[in-house]
Formats: sequence, structure tokens, C-alpha cells
Amino acid sequence: MEQFQPELETCPVCGSTSNCHIHDYYARSIIYFRSGRKLKQDLCIMRVFCDSCKHAHAILPDIIIPYSSYSLFFILFILGDAGLHTVEQLCEHFDVSEKQFHKWLTLWKSHMEQWLGMLDASETDNATFYRQLFLRDSFSAFSMDFIRLTACSFLQSHRNPVLTRPKNARYRQTSFSPDIFLF
Ligand SMILES: [Zn+2]
Repeated sequence: MEQFQPELETCPVCGSTSNCHIHDYYARSIIYFRSGRKLKQDLCIMRVFCDSCKHAHAILPDIIIPYSSYSLFFILFILGDAGLHTVEQLCEHFDVSEKQFHKWLTLWKSHMEQWLGMLDASETDNATFYRQLFLRDSFSAFSMDFIRLTACSFLQSHRNPVLTRPKNARYRQTSFSPDIFLF
């Protein structure tokens, strides 16, 4: 975030450049997993405002999935352990409900199909796809490519809003460096 310069960014709604500036900050929390414990951290999220189209944009690091209380890595950790333990064991260890776990698993499979295509996804098991994600040069590059392909973030469960103004506006997520490296 220290490298982020809103005035150099292109507005994801109207496409204009040099019209964004820091607008305000809002508080939200994120649940993550560290040293065998489920933890909650308060975060301060920057919003930028575009003077051209009058839209505000939240700037979210890759570890935050839009609309999700859980961090990306929390979900990746529990899904990565899915083949090693029973669902009951996993949910107890990560302190989540089985309903929540199955929601993530369904989302994972759906996004794997969108990313690989139905045919390749049917021939790829979860562990292989998981390894493929971690073997990429950077997660941010995958994250950006996934957004370009699907118009939402990887493992994002809620749809993005439909914009009513300006008339030709289209909600679009975008990402920027610095990258997150997974290894
Ligand atoms: Zn704009």
C-alpha cells in the first residue's frame, strides 16, 4: 500500500486517469489463522474517489476477498488440508461450521472450473489445482488474471453491485503491484 499512488491509477468505472485521490478510510476486520489459532485483526481500508465519475473505490490487498470475513489464506489453508482430515476434524481445528466449509469447497470447485474450463477441471483433482496455484510466480498475477476472466475475485462468493450511474458504467475490479508471493 505504501507504493500505491491513486493519482496515477485508472478509474475502474469510467476509465479516466489522474482523477482519483484518497477519499477516506473505513474500518473492517479480517479472520485469519496463525500458529494453530483462529484470530481476528482490525484493518483500515483506504477508499479513493474519482472526480470524473464520482465513484469511490475501496483498495483491498489480495489477502482480502471482497465481502468475505475470512482471509484468502485462511480459506486456502483449510481447503489445502481437506484431503488429509475428515470434515469434522477440519472444522474443529479451524473453528468453522461444516456448512461454511462446504460453501468454500463448492466455490473452490466452481472457480476451478471457470479457470481451467469444465473439461480440464474434470480431469484435475483439488490437490493438483492447489499446487498449481502455489507454483505460480506470484499469487497477484493469478489474482489479476482470474478477475479479468470472471469479473470477480478468486473465492469471492457475493456478486459485485450493478452500477446505475453513469449510464454506461460497469463495475470492474482491478489490481496493482506490489505482488504477493506465496513462497
Ligand atoms: Zn471514474
